Amino acid sequence: MKVEILPALTDNYMYLLIDQDTREAAIVDPVQPQKVLDAVKKHGVKLTTVLTTHHHWDHAGGNEKLVKLEPGLRVCGGDSRVGALTQRVSHLTALQVGSLSVKCLSTPCHTSGHICYYVTKPNSSEPPAVFTGDTLFVAGCGKFFEGTPEEMYKALIEILGSLDPKTRVYCGHEYTINNLKFARHVEPGNPSIQEKLAWAKARYDSGEPTIPSTLAEEFTYNPFMRVREKSVQDHAGESDPVRAMGAIRREKDNFRVPRD
Ligand SMILES: [Zn+2]
Repeated sequence: MKVEILPALTDNYMYLLIDQDTREAAIVDPVQPQKVLDAVKKHGVKLTTVLTTHHHWDHAGGNEKLVKLEPGLRVCGGDSRVGALTQRVSHLTALQVGSLSVKCLSTPCHTSGHICYYVTKPNSSEPPAVFTGDTLFVAGCGKFFEGTPEEMYKALIEILGSLDPKTRVYCGHEYTINNLKFARHVEPGNPSIQEKLAWAKARYDSGEPTIPSTLAEEFTYNPFMRVREKSVQDHAGESDPVRAMGAIRREKDNFRVPRD
């Protein structure tokens, strides 16, 4: 599989997922439809599917225009608030994009209908990919607009955290540097955070995305993936991982990012 990263709006990402065997493609969160169609043309692929992570306008807001420009697309999402929806998916719904298998993972919390899409190529050694929208970011997670710390714990640790550790993580926004500054505040003694922050700043300075990471990496520096670690629990003042999740999310909602 090939994943083409398409930056959109200020800090959003759309992703063109290509099955190289059949030249069939899917687009994740096509908020800027013309940019999507330009990429489809450039790669000479057949776009069949829209994978919508959630209904917020900066993710789903291009769906209606895209289906007008390109009639006949299958538009998937887990929420009736997603525009131009043709296939409502739920937890463990299975889809195909060419020879690629896509498994829908219900991860309510940022929004109640949020879906992550886990993509594997059967009978191959290629690492899987997961499109995490505003559930999991590199070194962070989405705000709990429509959910609870229990739900985010289930999403990050039990659902996403149990996938193949080599899985590439493609998230909805470029928030990496600010997320790592908060991670450093939570765990000042964690060298993985310092290393990733230095790397992310260098990427940013050269105009490159910090996407993808891997799930294995996220467990080393993402405080929301590390709520079972004593260092994170000590910072949160909570010895229960779900309560620690709630405490660090509240703290991050009010965190002033240092300008270093
Ligand atoms: Zn959102």
